[in-house]
Amino acid sequence: MANLPIHRVGIGTDLHRLEVGGPLRLGGIDVPFDKHAAGHSDGDVVLHALIDAIFGAAGLPDIGEHFPDTDPRYKGADSRMLLTLAVDEIRELGYAVANVDVVVHAERPKLSPFKADMRNVIALLCETTPDAVCVKAKTNEGVDAVGRGEAVASTVIVGLVRN
Ligand code: MG
Repeated sequence: MANLPIHRVGIGTDLHRLEVGGPLRLGGIDVPFDKHAAGHSDGDVVLHALIDAIFGAAGLPDIGEHFPDTDPRYKGADSRMLLTLAVDEIRELGYAVANVDVVVHAERPKLSPFKADMRNVIALLCETTPDAVCVKAKTNEGVDAVGRGEAVASTVIVGLVRN
């Protein structure tokens, strides 16, 4: 892997529809809410965007190719497990997660009380320290599907460093 650069950057995004019945799985934690994100797996938009950012940084196939939503193995899958598999894969290529920058787009619930927990879980799963992880939450000012409370979304940028 000596020909690969020392630093690489990847971006990932995800959006899931909200449906009645909580809790809302976000950033690897269960946020108390009266809706959940619909999906083949646990619908965790933050971890899905993060996994895609990791794969993107490493130049690997995307999350849909790795973990097809047509595959019964991933029905109801815990995205924390999928993230662990992604981190394992880049470790085998000689890379480690250097930093993670997360934006969560959600009109409700208020996420500020949960950002620290998300940060700690993401750091643990990415084999780094919380100071290498940032979690920001934004509303969508009442517009579009996120603003109307019909969906949650996330945008994540990841830096990788070659060991
Ligand atoms: Mg997804």
